[in-house]
Amino acid sequence: MNQAKQGEKERIKDTRLRYKGICPVCGAELWICKSIMMIDFGQNMGHGSCYQCNTFLHLTFNEDQQAFDTETWDDYMKRERKEKNEVW
Ligand SMILES: [Zn+2]
Repeated sequence: MNQAKQGEKERIKDTRLRYKGICPVCGAELWICKSIMMIDFGQNMGHGSCYQCNTFLHLTFNEDQQAFDTETWDDYMKRERKEKNEVW
């Protein structure tokens, strides 16, 4: 019984560490661990592949919604290039 209780506790802890993002291509729900991403990247963004359609995604954490904003890597690169063009 103690072990089952411990397992339940671990599961709740695990769920709380993950934040939701929706794949812009196939609409799959992605649960992304923010703390690991923050440690790995040291910033409020990251990237990963959709587990369902395998699209490579750019991720930004949205503090207001406590969820991830997602966009395809292609869209992200297009936006980056556009921003740079405007600066130059
Ligand atoms: Zn997808």
